[in-house]
Amino acid sequence: MMFQYDQDSLEAIRDGVRSLCANFDESYWREVDERKGFPEDFVDAMTEAGWLAAMIPEEYGGSGLGLAEASVILEEVNRCGGNSGTIHGQMYNMFTLMRHGSEAQRQEYLPKLASGELRLQSMAVTEPTTGTDTTKIKTTAVRQGNKYVVNGQKVWISRVQHSDLMILLARTTPLDEVKKKSLGMSIFIVDLREAIGNGLTVQPIANMVNHETNELFFDNLEIPVENLIGEEGMGFRYILDGLNAERALIAAECIGDGRWFIAKASNYARERVVFGRPIGQNQGVQFPIAQAHIDVEAADLMRWRACYEYDNGQNAGASANMAKYLSAEASWKAANACLQTHGGFGFAAEYDVERKFRETRLYQVAPISTNLILSFVAEHLLELPRSF
Ligand SMILES: Cc1cc2nc3c(=O)[nH]c(=O)nc-3n(C[C@H](O)[C@H](O)[C@H](O)COP(=O)(O)OP(=O)(O)OC[C@H]3O[C@@H](n4cnc5c(N)ncnc54)[C@H](O)[C@@H]3O)c2cc1C
Repeated sequence: MMFQYDQDSLEAIRDGVRSLCANFDESYWREVDERKGFPEDFVDAMTEAGWLAAMIPEEYGGSGLGLAEASVILEEVNRCGGNSGTIHGQMYNMFTLMRHGSEAQRQEYLPKLASGELRLQSMAVTEPTTGTDTTKIKTTAVRQGNKYVVNGQKVWISRVQHSDLMILLARTTPLDEVKKKSLGMSIFIVDLREAIGNGLTVQPIANMVNHETNELFFDNLEIPVENLIGEEGMGFRYILDGLNAERALIAAECIGDGRWFIAKASNYARERVVFGRPIGQNQGVQFPIAQAHIDVEAADLMRWRACYEYDNGQNAGASANMAKYLSAEASWKAANACLQTHGGFGFAAEYDVERKFRETRLYQVAPISTNLILSFVAEHLLELPRSF
Protein backbone atom coordinates (compact mmCIF):
# COMPACT_ATOMS: atom_id res chain seq x y z
CA MET A 1 0.00 0.00 0.00
CA MET A 2 1.26 3.47 -0.84
CA PHE A 3 -0.87 6.39 0.35
CA GLN A 4 -3.57 3.72 0.79
CA TYR A 5 -3.94 2.78 -2.87
CA ASP A 6 -4.73 -0.82 -3.71
CA GLN A 7 -1.52 -1.85 -5.47
CA ASP A 8 -3.10 -4.94 -7.05
CA SER A 9 -5.65 -2.91 -8.98
CA LEU A 10 -2.98 -0.39 -10.04
CA GLU A 11 -0.79 -3.30 -11.17
CA ALA A 12 -3.70 -4.67 -13.22
CA ILE A 13 -3.94 -1.31 -15.01
CA ARG A 14 -0.18 -1.33 -15.65
CA ASP A 15 -0.41 -4.81 -17.12
CA GLY A 16 -3.34 -3.85 -19.34
CA VAL A 17 -1.66 -0.73 -20.73
CA ARG A 18 1.63 -2.58 -21.18
CA SER A 19 0.02 -5.36 -23.17
CA LEU A 20 -1.64 -2.80 -25.46
CA CYS A 21 1.63 -0.89 -25.82
CA ALA A 22 3.39 -4.13 -26.81
CA ASN A 23 1.57 -3.78 -30.15
CA PHE A 24 3.09 -0.29 -30.54
CA ASP A 25 6.73 -0.88 -29.81
CA GLU A 26 9.65 1.51 -30.17
CA SER A 27 10.00 0.84 -33.89
CA TYR A 28 6.37 1.99 -34.31
CA TRP A 29 7.07 5.30 -32.54
CA ARG A 30 10.35 5.75 -34.41
CA GLU A 31 8.61 5.33 -37.75
CA VAL A 32 5.85 7.81 -36.77
CA ASP A 33 8.53 10.28 -35.61
CA GLU A 34 10.54 9.93 -38.81
CA ARG A 35 7.59 10.68 -41.06
CA LYS A 36 6.34 13.35 -38.63
CA GLY A 37 3.02 11.55 -38.55
CA PHE A 38 0.33 11.13 -35.92
CA PRO A 39 -0.07 7.72 -34.23
CA GLU A 40 -3.72 7.26 -35.24
CA ASP A 41 -3.68 3.47 -34.69
CA PHE A 42 -2.30 3.85 -31.18
CA VAL A 43 -4.80 6.57 -30.20
CA ASP A 44 -7.67 4.48 -31.61
CA ALA A 45 -6.49 1.40 -29.73
CA MET A 46 -6.23 3.34 -26.45
CA THR A 47 -9.73 4.77 -27.00
CA GLU A 48 -11.28 1.41 -27.91
CA ALA A 49 -9.71 -0.23 -24.86
CA GLY A 50 -11.40 2.45 -22.75
CA TRP A 51 -8.18 3.85 -21.26
CA LEU A 52 -8.91 7.42 -22.33
CA ALA A 53 -12.30 7.30 -20.64
CA ALA A 54 -10.80 6.16 -17.34
CA MET A 55 -11.89 9.26 -15.42
CA ILE A 56 -15.30 9.74 -17.03
CA PRO A 57 -17.97 8.74 -14.48
CA GLU A 58 -19.68 5.41 -15.12
CA GLU A 59 -23.10 7.00 -15.69
CA TYR A 60 -21.61 8.72 -18.77
CA GLY A 61 -20.01 5.58 -20.14
CA GLY A 62 -16.54 5.80 -18.57
CA SER A 63 -14.81 3.79 -15.85
CA GLY A 64 -15.11 6.36 -13.05
CA LEU A 65 -11.52 5.85 -11.92
CA GLY A 66 -9.44 8.35 -9.97
CA LEU A 67 -6.40 10.46 -10.74
CA ALA A 68 -4.02 7.77 -9.47
CA GLU A 69 -5.29 5.24 -12.00
CA ALA A 70 -5.26 7.81 -14.83
CA SER A 71 -1.68 8.72 -13.94
CA VAL A 72 -0.62 5.07 -14.14
CA ILE A 73 -2.06 4.83 -17.67
CA LEU A 74 0.00 7.79 -18.93
CA GLU A 75 3.11 6.70 -17.02
CA GLU A 76 3.04 3.27 -18.64
CA VAL A 77 2.71 4.67 -22.17
CA ASN A 78 5.91 6.66 -21.69
CA ARG A 79 7.64 3.88 -19.83
CA CYS A 80 7.03 1.57 -22.79
CA GLY A 81 8.83 4.03 -25.09
CA GLY A 82 5.71 5.78 -26.41
CA ASN A 83 4.64 9.41 -26.24
CA SER A 84 1.56 10.16 -24.14
CA GLY A 85 1.55 13.71 -25.59
CA THR A 86 -0.59 12.18 -28.33
CA ILE A 87 -3.41 11.27 -25.92
CA HIS A 88 -3.08 13.23 -22.69
CA GLY A 89 -5.11 16.21 -23.96
CA GLN A 90 -8.22 14.09 -23.88
CA MET A 91 -7.69 13.30 -20.19
CA TYR A 92 -6.76 16.85 -19.18
CA ASN A 93 -9.58 18.52 -21.07
CA MET A 94 -12.30 16.25 -19.81
CA PHE A 95 -11.87 17.65 -16.30
CA THR A 96 -13.07 21.02 -17.45
CA LEU A 97 -16.16 19.62 -19.10
CA MET A 98 -16.92 17.20 -16.25
CA ARG A 99 -16.52 19.74 -13.48
CA HIS A 100 -17.89 22.90 -15.04
CA GLY A 101 -20.09 21.83 -17.95
CA SER A 102 -23.89 21.85 -17.55
CA GLU A 103 -25.74 18.56 -17.17
CA ALA A 104 -26.96 18.98 -20.77
CA GLN A 105 -23.34 19.38 -21.98
CA ARG A 106 -22.18 16.38 -19.96
CA GLN A 107 -25.01 14.26 -21.39
CA GLU A 108 -24.27 15.45 -24.91
CA TYR A 109 -20.51 15.01 -24.96
CA LEU A 110 -19.21 12.62 -22.30
CA PRO A 111 -20.79 9.36 -23.57
CA LYS A 112 -19.53 10.14 -27.09
CA LEU A 113 -16.06 10.92 -25.74
CA ALA A 114 -16.08 7.68 -23.76
CA SER A 115 -17.05 5.62 -26.81
CA GLY A 116 -14.58 7.38 -29.08
CA GLU A 117 -17.27 8.86 -31.33
CA LEU A 118 -15.91 12.31 -30.43
CA ARG A 119 -12.38 13.45 -29.57
CA LEU A 120 -11.67 16.35 -27.19
CA GLN A 121 -7.91 16.52 -27.55
CA SER A 122 -7.38 20.31 -27.71
CA MET A 123 -7.41 23.31 -25.41
CA ALA A 124 -6.55 26.79 -26.71
CA VAL A 125 -5.11 29.13 -24.08
CA THR A 126 -1.65 30.39 -25.14
CA GLU A 127 -1.34 33.48 -27.36
CA PRO A 128 1.70 34.76 -29.27
CA THR A 129 1.88 38.23 -27.73
CA THR A 130 1.00 37.40 -24.11
CA GLY A 131 2.63 34.02 -23.38
CA THR A 132 2.40 32.98 -19.75
CA ASP A 133 0.68 36.24 -18.79
CA THR A 134 -2.69 34.65 -19.54
CA THR A 135 -4.97 37.34 -18.14
CA LYS A 136 -3.73 39.68 -20.91
CA ILE A 137 -5.07 37.46 -23.72
CA LYS A 138 -6.36 39.44 -26.67
CA THR A 139 -8.71 36.92 -28.24
CA THR A 140 -12.25 38.19 -27.69
CA ALA A 141 -15.69 36.58 -27.76
CA VAL A 142 -18.47 39.12 -28.13
CA ARG A 143 -22.07 38.08 -27.57
CA GLN A 144 -24.43 38.88 -30.44
CA GLY A 145 -27.91 37.46 -29.81
CA ASN A 146 -27.72 33.68 -29.55
CA LYS A 147 -24.06 33.42 -30.54
CA TYR A 148 -20.59 34.61 -29.59
CA VAL A 149 -18.30 36.05 -32.28
CA VAL A 150 -14.62 35.26 -31.76
CA ASN A 151 -11.62 37.21 -33.10
CA GLY A 152 -7.94 36.82 -32.26
CA GLN A 153 -5.04 34.44 -32.40
CA LYS A 154 -3.64 31.47 -30.45
CA VAL A 155 -0.31 29.67 -30.68
CA TRP A 156 0.99 26.18 -29.82
CA ILE A 157 -2.45 24.63 -29.81
CA SER A 158 -1.94 20.89 -29.96
CA ARG A 159 -3.78 18.04 -31.73
CA VAL A 160 -6.30 20.36 -33.43
CA GLN A 161 -5.98 18.36 -36.64
CA HIS A 162 -6.80 15.17 -34.72
CA SER A 163 -9.67 16.37 -32.58
CA ASP A 164 -13.38 17.07 -33.09
CA LEU A 165 -13.77 19.50 -30.21
CA MET A 166 -11.58 22.16 -28.60
CA ILE A 167 -11.93 24.18 -25.40
CA LEU A 168 -11.24 27.86 -26.08
CA LEU A 169 -10.38 30.60 -23.56
CA ALA A 170 -11.36 34.09 -24.74
CA ARG A 171 -12.00 37.45 -23.14
CA THR A 172 -15.71 38.30 -22.89
CA THR A 173 -15.28 41.52 -20.87
CA PRO A 174 -12.41 43.92 -21.67
CA LEU A 175 -9.56 43.90 -19.15
CA ASP A 176 -10.10 47.58 -18.20
CA GLU A 177 -13.76 46.87 -17.29
CA VAL A 178 -13.19 44.05 -14.76
CA LYS A 179 -12.57 44.32 -11.00
CA LYS A 180 -9.92 41.59 -11.06
CA LYS A 181 -7.78 40.75 -14.09
CA SER A 182 -8.63 37.05 -13.71
CA LEU A 183 -12.33 37.84 -14.33
CA GLY A 184 -14.01 38.52 -17.66
CA MET A 185 -12.64 35.47 -19.51
CA SER A 186 -14.85 32.57 -20.59
CA ILE A 187 -14.42 29.09 -21.96
CA PHE A 188 -16.30 27.59 -24.88
CA ILE A 189 -16.62 24.27 -26.68
CA VAL A 190 -15.59 24.81 -30.29
CA ASP A 191 -16.77 22.20 -32.76
CA LEU A 192 -13.67 22.04 -34.96
CA ARG A 193 -15.48 20.14 -37.70
CA GLU A 194 -17.68 23.18 -38.29
CA ALA A 195 -15.24 25.93 -37.32
CA ILE A 196 -12.25 25.15 -39.55
CA GLY A 197 -12.77 27.06 -42.79
CA ASN A 198 -15.66 29.04 -41.26
CA GLY A 199 -13.81 31.63 -39.19
CA LEU A 200 -10.99 29.41 -37.90
CA THR A 201 -7.74 28.89 -39.82
CA VAL A 202 -5.17 26.34 -38.64
CA GLN A 203 -1.48 26.80 -39.41
CA PRO A 204 0.76 23.85 -38.33
CA ILE A 205 4.04 24.68 -36.52
CA ALA A 206 7.11 22.62 -37.39
CA ASN A 207 8.81 21.83 -34.08
CA MET A 208 11.56 19.89 -32.32
CA VAL A 209 9.30 17.10 -31.06
CA ASN A 210 6.91 15.26 -33.34
CA HIS A 211 4.07 17.16 -31.69
CA GLU A 212 1.03 18.12 -33.76
CA THR A 213 0.70 21.75 -32.72
CA ASN A 214 -0.64 24.83 -34.47
CA GLU A 215 -1.20 28.53 -34.75
CA LEU A 216 -4.90 29.42 -34.83
CA PHE A 217 -6.46 32.50 -36.42
CA PHE A 218 -10.02 33.48 -35.50
CA ASP A 219 -11.83 35.78 -37.91
CA ASN A 220 -15.45 36.26 -36.83
CA LEU A 221 -15.84 32.64 -35.76
CA GLU A 222 -19.41 32.12 -34.55
CA ILE A 223 -20.04 29.90 -31.50
CA PRO A 224 -23.61 29.14 -30.30
CA VAL A 225 -24.30 30.47 -26.77
CA GLU A 226 -25.07 26.94 -25.56
CA ASN A 227 -21.38 26.12 -26.08
CA LEU A 228 -20.35 28.43 -23.22
CA ILE A 229 -19.05 26.29 -20.34
CA GLY A 230 -20.23 27.43 -16.91
CA GLU A 231 -20.74 31.10 -16.16
CA GLU A 232 -19.59 33.87 -18.48
CA GLY A 233 -16.51 35.62 -17.09
CA MET A 234 -15.37 32.72 -14.88
CA GLY A 235 -13.38 30.77 -17.49
CA PHE A 236 -9.91 31.46 -16.11
CA ARG A 237 -10.93 30.05 -12.72
CA TYR A 238 -12.25 26.91 -14.44
CA ILE A 239 -8.96 26.46 -16.30
CA LEU A 240 -6.96 26.90 -13.09
CA ASP A 241 -9.21 24.40 -11.36
CA GLY A 242 -8.09 21.62 -13.72
CA LEU A 243 -4.41 22.37 -13.34
CA ASN A 244 -3.65 20.38 -10.20
CA ALA A 245 -4.87 17.20 -11.83
CA GLU A 246 -2.97 18.07 -15.01
CA ARG A 247 0.27 18.65 -13.08
CA ALA A 248 0.01 15.26 -11.36
CA LEU A 249 -0.61 13.54 -14.69
CA ILE A 250 2.39 15.25 -16.29
CA ALA A 251 4.49 14.19 -13.31
CA ALA A 252 3.50 10.58 -14.00
CA GLU A 253 4.41 10.96 -17.69
CA CYS A 254 7.86 12.25 -16.69
CA ILE A 255 8.30 9.35 -14.27
CA GLY A 256 7.44 6.95 -17.10
CA ASP A 257 10.09 8.62 -19.25
CA GLY A 258 12.62 8.58 -16.41
CA ARG A 259 12.14 4.84 -15.90
CA TRP A 260 12.45 4.19 -19.61
CA PHE A 261 15.76 6.12 -19.76
CA ILE A 262 17.18 4.41 -16.67
CA ALA A 263 16.33 0.91 -17.93
CA LYS A 264 17.71 1.73 -21.37
CA ALA A 265 20.94 3.18 -19.94
CA SER A 266 21.44 0.29 -17.49
CA ASN A 267 20.92 -2.35 -20.19
CA TYR A 268 23.39 -0.66 -22.51
CA ALA A 269 25.95 -0.12 -19.73
CA ARG A 270 25.84 -3.84 -18.89
CA GLU A 271 26.32 -4.92 -22.49
CA ARG A 272 28.66 -2.39 -24.11
CA VAL A 273 32.25 -3.54 -23.71
CA VAL A 274 35.11 -1.00 -24.06
CA PHE A 275 38.64 -1.40 -22.64
CA GLY A 276 37.85 -5.07 -22.14
CA ARG A 277 34.98 -4.61 -19.67
CA PRO A 278 31.36 -3.44 -19.63
CA ILE A 279 31.22 0.36 -19.47
CA GLY A 280 28.76 -0.03 -16.56
CA GLN A 281 31.63 -1.37 -14.45
CA ASN A 282 33.04 2.17 -14.33
CA GLN A 283 31.67 4.28 -11.52
CA GLY A 284 31.84 7.30 -13.81
CA VAL A 285 29.16 5.60 -15.92
CA GLN A 286 27.19 4.06 -13.03
CA PHE A 287 26.80 7.11 -10.85
CA PRO A 288 24.84 9.43 -13.17
CA ILE A 289 22.38 6.58 -13.82
CA ALA A 290 22.11 5.82 -10.09
CA GLN A 291 21.59 9.53 -9.28
CA ALA A 292 18.84 9.81 -11.88
CA HIS A 293 17.17 6.69 -10.48
CA ILE A 294 17.16 8.22 -6.98
CA ASP A 295 15.65 11.44 -8.32
CA VAL A 296 12.91 9.61 -10.25
CA GLU A 297 11.96 7.49 -7.23
CA ALA A 298 11.84 10.57 -4.97
CA ALA A 299 9.70 12.46 -7.49
CA ASP A 300 7.38 9.46 -7.66
CA LEU A 301 6.63 9.77 -3.92
CA MET A 302 5.49 13.35 -4.43
CA ARG A 303 3.38 12.25 -7.41
CA TRP A 304 1.55 9.72 -5.19
CA ARG A 305 1.03 12.36 -2.53
CA ALA A 306 -0.52 14.66 -5.12
CA CYS A 307 -2.80 11.94 -6.51
CA TYR A 308 -3.86 10.87 -3.04
CA GLU A 309 -4.74 14.40 -1.95
CA TYR A 310 -6.66 15.02 -5.17
CA ASP A 311 -8.55 11.72 -5.05
CA ASN A 312 -9.53 12.38 -1.43
CA GLY A 313 -10.86 15.87 -2.01
CA GLN A 314 -7.92 17.62 -0.32
CA ASN A 315 -6.08 20.65 -1.72
CA ALA A 316 -3.42 19.12 -3.96
CA GLY A 317 -1.97 22.42 -5.21
CA ALA A 318 1.37 22.28 -3.42
CA SER A 319 2.01 18.59 -4.02
CA ALA A 320 0.91 18.66 -7.66
CA ASN A 321 3.17 21.58 -8.51
CA MET A 322 6.13 20.13 -6.64
CA ALA A 323 5.55 16.70 -8.20
CA LYS A 324 5.55 18.20 -11.67
CA TYR A 325 8.74 20.14 -10.96
CA LEU A 326 10.63 17.19 -9.43
CA SER A 327 9.50 14.74 -12.10
CA ALA A 328 10.37 16.98 -15.04
CA GLU A 329 13.83 17.61 -13.52
CA ALA A 330 14.32 13.90 -12.84
CA SER A 331 13.31 12.74 -16.32
CA TRP A 332 15.62 15.32 -17.88
CA LYS A 333 18.49 14.15 -15.67
CA ALA A 334 17.74 10.54 -16.66
CA ALA A 335 17.62 11.56 -20.33
CA ASN A 336 21.08 13.12 -20.10
CA ALA A 337 22.53 10.14 -18.26
CA CYS A 338 21.06 7.79 -20.87
CA LEU A 339 22.37 9.80 -23.80
CA GLN A 340 25.84 10.05 -22.27
CA THR A 341 25.91 6.32 -21.48
CA HIS A 342 25.19 5.55 -25.13
CA GLY A 343 28.06 7.72 -26.37
CA GLY A 344 27.77 8.27 -30.12
CA PHE A 345 24.99 5.69 -30.45
CA GLY A 346 22.75 7.92 -28.34
CA PHE A 347 22.50 10.17 -31.38
CA ALA A 348 21.42 7.38 -33.73
CA ALA A 349 17.65 7.38 -34.32
CA GLU A 350 17.49 3.57 -34.18
CA TYR A 351 18.31 3.58 -30.45
CA ASP A 352 15.27 5.81 -29.67
CA VAL A 353 17.25 7.75 -27.07
CA GLU A 354 17.44 10.99 -29.08
CA ARG A 355 13.68 10.85 -29.76
CA LYS A 356 12.75 10.35 -26.11
CA PHE A 357 15.37 12.98 -25.15
CA ARG A 358 13.56 15.56 -27.31
CA GLU A 359 10.16 14.45 -26.03
CA THR A 360 10.99 14.69 -22.33
CA ARG A 361 12.68 18.08 -22.72
CA LEU A 362 9.30 19.58 -23.56
CA TYR A 363 8.06 19.05 -20.00
CA GLN A 364 10.38 21.77 -18.72
CA VAL A 365 8.43 24.28 -20.83
CA ALA A 366 4.93 22.98 -21.52
CA PRO A 367 2.23 22.95 -20.38
CA ILE A 368 3.84 25.06 -17.64
CA SER A 369 7.43 26.23 -17.47
CA THR A 370 9.65 25.35 -14.53
CA ASN A 371 10.04 29.01 -13.52
CA LEU A 372 6.31 29.44 -13.12
CA ILE A 373 6.20 26.49 -10.71
CA LEU A 374 9.07 27.96 -8.70
CA SER A 375 7.25 31.27 -8.48
CA PHE A 376 4.08 29.46 -7.35
CA VAL A 377 6.04 27.76 -4.55
CA ALA A 378 7.78 31.00 -3.56
CA GLU A 379 4.61 33.04 -3.47
CA HIS A 380 1.95 30.61 -2.27
CA LEU A 381 3.91 28.23 -0.04
CA LEU A 382 6.69 30.47 1.24
CA GLU A 383 4.71 33.74 1.27
CA LEU A 384 7.41 35.64 -0.59
CA PRO A 385 6.29 38.80 -2.40
CA ARG A 386 4.49 38.24 -5.69
CA SER A 387 6.99 38.70 -8.54
CA PHE A 388 4.58 39.42 -11.41
C1 LIG B 1 4.96 21.54 -28.20
C2 LIG B 1 4.10 22.49 -27.42
C3 LIG B 1 2.75 22.21 -27.25
C4 LIG B 1 1.92 23.11 -26.58
N1 LIG B 1 0.56 22.84 -26.50
C5 LIG B 1 -0.28 23.81 -26.01
C6 LIG B 1 -1.71 23.63 -26.08
O1 LIG B 1 -2.21 22.60 -26.53
N2 LIG B 1 -2.50 24.65 -25.63
C7 LIG B 1 -1.99 25.82 -25.13
O2 LIG B 1 -2.76 26.69 -24.76
N3 LIG B 1 -0.64 26.01 -25.06
C8 LIG B 1 0.22 25.03 -25.49
N4 LIG B 1 1.59 25.23 -25.44
C9 LIG B 1 2.12 26.49 -24.91
C10 LIG B 1 2.84 26.33 -23.57
O3 LIG B 1 1.90 26.16 -22.54
C11 LIG B 1 3.70 27.60 -23.40
O4 LIG B 1 4.73 27.53 -24.36
C12 LIG B 1 4.28 27.70 -22.02
O5 LIG B 1 3.26 27.88 -21.07
C13 LIG B 1 5.26 28.87 -21.93
O6 LIG B 1 4.68 30.03 -22.48
P1 LIG B 1 5.43 30.86 -23.63
O7 LIG B 1 5.96 29.91 -24.63
O8 LIG B 1 4.54 31.94 -24.12
O9 LIG B 1 6.67 31.46 -22.87
P2 LIG B 1 6.86 32.98 -22.22
O10 LIG B 1 5.67 33.26 -21.39
O11 LIG B 1 7.13 33.86 -23.39
O12 LIG B 1 8.11 32.75 -21.37
C14 LIG B 1 9.41 32.51 -21.94
C15 LIG B 1 10.37 32.08 -20.83
O13 LIG B 1 10.44 33.13 -19.84
C16 LIG B 1 10.11 32.61 -18.56
N5 LIG B 1 9.34 33.62 -17.82
C17 LIG B 1 8.31 34.39 -18.28
N6 LIG B 1 7.86 35.22 -17.31
C18 LIG B 1 8.60 34.94 -16.20
C19 LIG B 1 8.61 35.44 -14.87
N7 LIG B 1 7.75 36.38 -14.47
N8 LIG B 1 9.52 34.92 -14.00
C20 LIG B 1 10.39 33.97 -14.39
N9 LIG B 1 10.43 33.45 -15.64
C21 LIG B 1 9.55 33.93 -16.54
C22 LIG B 1 9.27 31.37 -18.80
O14 LIG B 1 9.39 30.48 -17.72
C23 LIG B 1 9.89 30.83 -20.09
O15 LIG B 1 10.98 29.99 -19.78
C24 LIG B 1 2.45 24.30 -26.04
C25 LIG B 1 3.82 24.58 -26.19
C26 LIG B 1 4.64 23.70 -26.86
C27 LIG B 1 6.09 24.05 -27.04
